[in-house]
This record gives sequence, C-alpha cells and structure tokens, in this order.
Amino acid sequence: MSGLFEKSLCQRQSIATTILQSAVERQRLANAYLLIGREIADKWLIARQLSCYLNCLERADGKLDCQSKVDGTGTKSGSLCQNCRWIADDKHPQAWLILAADESSKTGKLAVEKARLLLEELSKTSQYIRTVVVPDAAQENFHRPAANALLKTIEEPGPSCLFLLFATQMEDVLPTILSRCQVIPVLQSAGSATADVSPNEALTNEIKINFDIRKATLSDALGWSAGLLEIAQQGIEPKLIIDIVVSSEIERLRGAAADDSAIALYLSRLLQLAEASKLQMEHFVQPRFALESFAIAWQELGSVRRH
Ligand SMILES: [Zn+2]
Repeated sequence: MSGLFEKSLCQRQSIATTILQSAVERQRLANAYLLIGREIADKWLIARQLSCYLNCLERADGKLDCQSKVDGTGTKSGSLCQNCRWIADDKHPQAWLILAADESSKTGKLAVEKARLLLEELSKTSQYIRTVVVPDAAQENFHRPAANALLKTIEEPGPSCLFLLFATQMEDVLPTILSRCQVIPVLQSAGSATADVSPNEALTNEIKINFDIRKATLSDALGWSAGLLEIAQQGIEPKLIIDIVVSSEIERLRGAAADDSAIALYLSRLLQLAEASKLQMEHFVQPRFALESFAIAWQELGSVRRH
C-alpha cells in the first residue's frame, strides 16, 4: 500500500504514519485517535491524507489512489477525484467535518449546540467515511458539556466514522475523552529522527549506548545522565543529546508501536518528557539539572511500563 501518506510526511512522522497505516492495512482503525504534540501542521496533514485515502473514489474503483499521484516535490501528476479535492480544500460536506469553537465565541469554548449538530449529522447514513477533526481537544475548549454530548459517539461512532482529536499534551484532555482514544505522538520536526544532523558520529554512538532504561534503577539513571552531561561538555548541544536518545528509542520501538497501543502511549509520554526538558533548557535551567530530571522521569516512566 503506497498511497496513504506522502513520503516526506512518513519520514517526519514515522510513528504516527506507521501506526495508522498498519491499522488501515489490517482494517483495524480505532474509533478515535488523539494526536499529541506541538506540530500542528503535520497533524492536519495526517488527518487530511488519511481522510482522502479512506474516501478516494479512484481507489474505490480499484485504481491507484490520488495520493499516489503526488510526486516527491508535492506536485500532482494527475487530477484528483472529487472527494480528495474537496477534502483537500476543506469543502467536503460529509466526509470532512471539523468541530471547533466559533471564532466569534467569547469564551473560546466549543458550544454544546455545535456538538449536537454534529451528532445529528453523524446519525444520518452516509456513503463516506466521515472524518471528524477536533483541532483543539484540550478541556479548556472541548469542555465537559460538549464532550459529554459526544462521549457515546466517540466510543461507538458506527462503521463509517472516525474521530481525530488534537492536543498538545495528554494532560490537557478530559480523562473521559482520553480513555476513549488511542494516543499517537506527533513529533516536532526538529526532534524527529535527527541522528543525521549530529555533529560527530563517535559521540552520537556514545549517546546511543545501549541503555535499557526500562530496567534501570534510579542510580543507573543518574549515572547515565552524568555520562550525557560529559558528552555535552565536549561541545554537543544538550537539547540535541535528548533528541538523539529519544529518536533511538523511537527507532527501536516504532514497529512494535503499530501493534501495541501501550507502546505508542509510552512513546508519547517519552516525547512529552523530552519536550519538557528542552523547554527547561530554553528557560536557562542548567543542562545538568535538566538532564538529571529527564533521566529520572524516564526511569519512572520505564518502571510504570514494566508493571
Ligand atoms: Zn481520490
């Protein structure tokens, strides 16, 4: 199956695209996915390309789907089918549904009435796979009344409906919503598999030293962070060190994450830890403390996973 996601998107978002592609191939898409991270543009690309693929008329005709006509430079070599065109233009009245607060909303919250209108729309039969995107699933926006109206539908949306929710981090989302979604990490482009931008191969290998954090004790973790600090003192940006360790863990588990939503969740949490540490460094926390707290948090995360 070649056409689900653009090649460049697959390279930037290897975890998310692997998980979704594998679910589509096995016809085992979840009812709802929560895309976590700060990379908003890539979340939209993932949602749109998935919706196009599911609704592509060319593919339904047994031909090559429209996405496969896109070459490496993003140019389409043929015309797109009507569904793909409308989804690309945000105009598909049934297959591409966006649930967002009105710009005029004084509170910034999603009106319950909009959630009800969506329910009404979803209760109609449709020939399309309806993709519902909630671009801001944080509870400040997707608050309890609106969320409650949709809980049952998110849990059992019916055969031709798929929810894609976006949030920066899991903690922002109501637990009742979170528990009904499969969590997928969307990487920040600067933090995705960046091993090739590392300055020195020997040091990179030293950073990647096979450290199985899941079996580590607290003092192992501290020792490990001290080792990382020494490497940083040899002139490697500490933020890059974090990117390198996290991308090697992603590389190791990417395939498994497609089959096991607990692993996808673990990687999502690890990415959040990495982002928090990098943010600390941007706010002038000493690299030593930032690396230490990263190592400790990862070790804790690892011990949660072990049990
Ligand atoms: Zn198409």
